[in-house]
Amino acid sequence: MNAFIKKHEYNYIKKCMEDLNNAYKGTSDTNIIEATKSYICDKILNIFPNLSEEEKELLDITKINDPLYIDSYLSSLKEYVYGMQIPTTAQLSKLFKKEKKLKLPNLDKETSKKVYLGWFDDSTRKLFVAYNMMDKLVGMTCTLTSHSSSNTHMCALCNRMGKEDEIAFVSAICKTNYTGEGAYKSIGFDVCIDSEKCNERITSTKKLEEILKEVNNLK
Ligand SMILES: [Zn+2]
Repeated sequence: MNAFIKKHEYNYIKKCMEDLNNAYKGTSDTNIIEATKSYICDKILNIFPNLSEEEKELLDITKINDPLYIDSYLSSLKEYVYGMQIPTTAQLSKLFKKEKKLKLPNLDKETSKKVYLGWFDDSTRKLFVAYNMMDKLVGMTCTLTSHSSSNTHMCALCNRMGKEDEIAFVSAICKTNYTGEGAYKSIGFDVCIDSEKCNERITSTKKLEEILKEVNNLK
């Protein structure tokens, strides 16, 4: 069996398992547990359009009869999870060629599976994001805009809520078809500064792709 679970899908399953664990904690009524389990099982299977019998068997959670088995279930999936193809430094330099003094992350020892590659440059206060969209490497530069409020922010990518030191408001300049005056366009959103942690939480690539499309002027 090949790796068939995308990293964000694995995160989604992980989140579903938290729900199951909470169901176990919340009740001892086996009918409720069974109903929750079959609901969650459907939710998981529904994100995969074409599963083989073997894959379906691996994902099946109805065999979990005790919350103690949730961790081993999740571990059993891990070898079938895959992340984005990590770009080379040459590809990243090309992607961000307009950036002066671009600091690249050290990718030599990069082993963690990722939905997207993100790194923060403290000196320029910029967050760089690279992602494979339809087999094409796309990127964006997000600049932290300093407005100090004590409000809680929610990461647009992983929905995590947090204070500004964890989740910051950034703006990204969008490419446009027009040049000259009035062509400038930028979008703003909240995002995790720590991309490693964000990558462990993101359960859908919808918003990430929407933002990247807008920034890169892609249809
Ligand atoms: Zn996030």
